[in-house]
Amino acid sequence: MFQKILIANRGEIALRVLRACKELGIQTVVVHSTADADAMHVRLADESVCIGPPPSRDSYLNIHQIVAACEITGADAVHPGYGFLSENAKFSDILAAHNITFIGPTGDHIRIMGDKIEAKRTAKRLGIPVVPGSDGAVTEEKDAKRIAAEIGYPVIIKASAGGGGRGMKVAHTEADLEVALQTARSEAGAAFGDDAVYIEKYLQKPRHIEVQVFGDGFGRGVHFGERDCSLQRRHQKVWEEANSPALNAEERSRIGDICAKAIADLGYSGAGTIEFLYENGEFYFIEMNTRLQVEHPVTEAITGIDLVHEQIRVASGGGLSVKQEDIRFQGHAIECRINAEDPRTFTPSPGTITHFHTPGGLGIRVDSGVYSGYKIPPYYDSLIGKLIVHGRNRVECMMRLRRALDEFVVDGIKTTLPLFRDLVGNADIANGDYDIHWLEKYLAKGE
Ligand code: ADP
Repeated sequence: MFQKILIANRGEIALRVLRACKELGIQTVVVHSTADADAMHVRLADESVCIGPPPSRDSYLNIHQIVAACEITGADAVHPGYGFLSENAKFSDILAAHNITFIGPTGDHIRIMGDKIEAKRTAKRLGIPVVPGSDGAVTEEKDAKRIAAEIGYPVIIKASAGGGGRGMKVAHTEADLEVALQTARSEAGAAFGDDAVYIEKYLQKPRHIEVQVFGDGFGRGVHFGERDCSLQRRHQKVWEEANSPALNAEERSRIGDICAKAIADLGYSGAGTIEFLYENGEFYFIEMNTRLQVEHPVTEAITGIDLVHEQIRVASGGGLSVKQEDIRFQGHAIECRINAEDPRTFTPSPGTITHFHTPGGLGIRVDSGVYSGYKIPPYYDSLIGKLIVHGRNRVECMMRLRRALDEFVVDGIKTTLPLFRDLVGNADIANGDYDIHWLEKYLAKGE
């Protein structure tokens, strides 16, 4: 087991990882920018190292500073959290060259899945169902037209190097296709320095369902069930549930088994998430994330297993603490992502939190790094906390969520809490009857 882990992240996830390390009796080092000197995870860590000024590229993305911080403090492993360097293959390689363990998969696996065209090709080879579309990159308009005609309109053009919902364009007719192809390519080139794009059938009313997987480092793979993340705004997840209200036990184990087998065949090590669109009873792979996800706590709630403990165990060579047959799903869990944003316009609302009171009681978990008097710096994303609620079934979970949202107090800034108070009272949400477009339509109506 590791002696000392350096946490290369900030905010709620830094604190989340720090808690797991403390439970396992591992010393912790955190790195932080000058803007985060007062952050909770900095206060709670055994050691902290300031690695630069506020902009992420000069601090949280500065690989040399982070490696230097490992060397100075004697950390033997790095947990990257999510975002920042968590899916950076070069970072993983550089750490390996310094004999420091990256708590995540190998650089090669990160590279394969980071390139969406390569990822889709790999998924197909491993027997994972994919969205019909082009076999690889498409550059010529005539090829695009031929493929679109084969799979049928509407189609979506996606950047191979894409992420965070950027670099996607939908074409409803052949007339739209030319412009969509050109815009997608130039946007992808500008945003990612790689203008490779590919074409997929655009699914009209899918749900976003993702399977949590783990490779144990010894060639075995397991799945921890799925999460439904269909409630999205601008392709960003807002509310996540486990299990999905749309799947039955047979569908769950069918897709779970396909994913676990693929992970084993790939020789993958650590946590991963295989993302699908789900429509009319069929799953279509869209991408795999090679890291811990923001929404991992809903899976922890229904399985009772600490996924960060498992990541640390696997990275240290100790394998998983559970076998597939030990992983059971109990009840239902929902996570709300609370952002420091105006609940109507979604413009960021940084500033000082004058009062912060979190709900409590059975089945309630709040993962947050903020506190009363905390000043939210304007440089990073606006997530200030996650409310995760667990109940014996979805009805109980929703009752508890409504009560917890009423109890939550964040004064001094605007937050998205009012949005969740509206959603929890909505009939479609109560029935679990929504697809990936539901939230955008609901917000457009201004209800
Ligand atoms: P990113 O890595 O940028 O998040 P994804 O491939 O995961 O990109 O897609 C993000 C979101 O875009 C999905 O959750 C879904 O809402 C939408 N999307 C992606 N591919 C399709 C498709 N083929 N049809 C319909 N919607 C899609």
